[in-house]
Amino acid sequence: MTNLQQMNAVMDKIRQYDKILIFRHVRLDGDCVGSSKGLQRLLQLTWPRKDIRLVDYQKSDFLAFLGADEDEADDDFYREALAVVVDTACTDRISNQKFKLCRELVKIDHHINNEPYGDVMWVEEERSSCCEMIARLYEAFQDELVIDREAATYIYTGMVTDSGRFRFEGVCGDTMRLAGLMLDQGVKTEPLFANLYLSDFATLKFKAAVYEQMQITENGVAHVFISREMQKEFGITLETASTAVSFLEGIKGCLSWIAFIESGDAEGSIRVRLRSRFMAINTVAEKYRGGGHACASGSTVYNQQEMAALIADADAAVKEYKESHEGWL
Ligand code: AMP
Repeated sequence: MTNLQQMNAVMDKIRQYDKILIFRHVRLDGDCVGSSKGLQRLLQLTWPRKDIRLVDYQKSDFLAFLGADEDEADDDFYREALAVVVDTACTDRISNQKFKLCRELVKIDHHINNEPYGDVMWVEEERSSCCEMIARLYEAFQDELVIDREAATYIYTGMVTDSGRFRFEGVCGDTMRLAGLMLDQGVKTEPLFANLYLSDFATLKFKAAVYEQMQITENGVAHVFISREMQKEFGITLETASTAVSFLEGIKGCLSWIAFIESGDAEGSIRVRLRSRFMAINTVAEKYRGGGHACASGSTVYNQQEMAALIADADAAVKEYKESHEGWL
């Protein structure tokens, strides 16, 4: 099926149902919040008589400016509804597992399609964000779908955040044209970017500590371990602690950077956030119960030995890349 055929199949399903539930992934990010809320708003504006809900009890301090999701639904609602899952590669990462009750399932995603699922699937791996796909859906069905500034702001936010502010490799002319289509709806960029960039004093202090503590391997992997003690010391949430990965980017010669965040759960799990430029790092993530995009992936380890092994694997991957490629920085 072509992308257009897949998109048509998604629209056919949406048209068929009066009750629709939208789902997204665990560990909220700008793209899953933007695409879920953006799609919900688009569909509500277009079909005021349809009942379109987003039931997810997760909270994010960073994304609070986009507004809370307070929908509820009883089991009967689920059973009659179409489930539309956005930005989620595999079903075990869907934040509300009650999607299983729904009558039919639609997958809309831009991750590597290792786990195809759903009665209807629209996956475009080369899109820089799932929000870009929702913008594309709007573009393709402009005569039918209704948009407003609020919907466009959700969608634009996800496009901006998941593409690293339009820097990552997946960004192409189509990304910018679709972003332009959203801006045309009157998105207010100044408050948006203030919300995305401003940090409080405690977070800045934490950032300084991360730079103190980080290490670099022989071949160029920057890494840092954020223990529970450190999180307590700086009075930061797990979510803020997890942003440490972005502090490590931009070091010359470090083609990969990794943050290990101790979660404090009973299993002693450590969240791993892996990033890279020029080269892929998802193969390393996949070896440790993870996956994701080539240059932005995640996994989980359970002790210091596994952490060391993962760092060694990443170091070997960087070494191999540097030895066989030119032009990296
Ligand atoms: P994160 O560092 O959590 O922002 O993750 C980066 C990318 O990897 C996102 O697209 C996630 O969906 C994906 N990802 C993170 N953790 C996992 C995992 N355990 N399994 C599969 N994909 C993951």
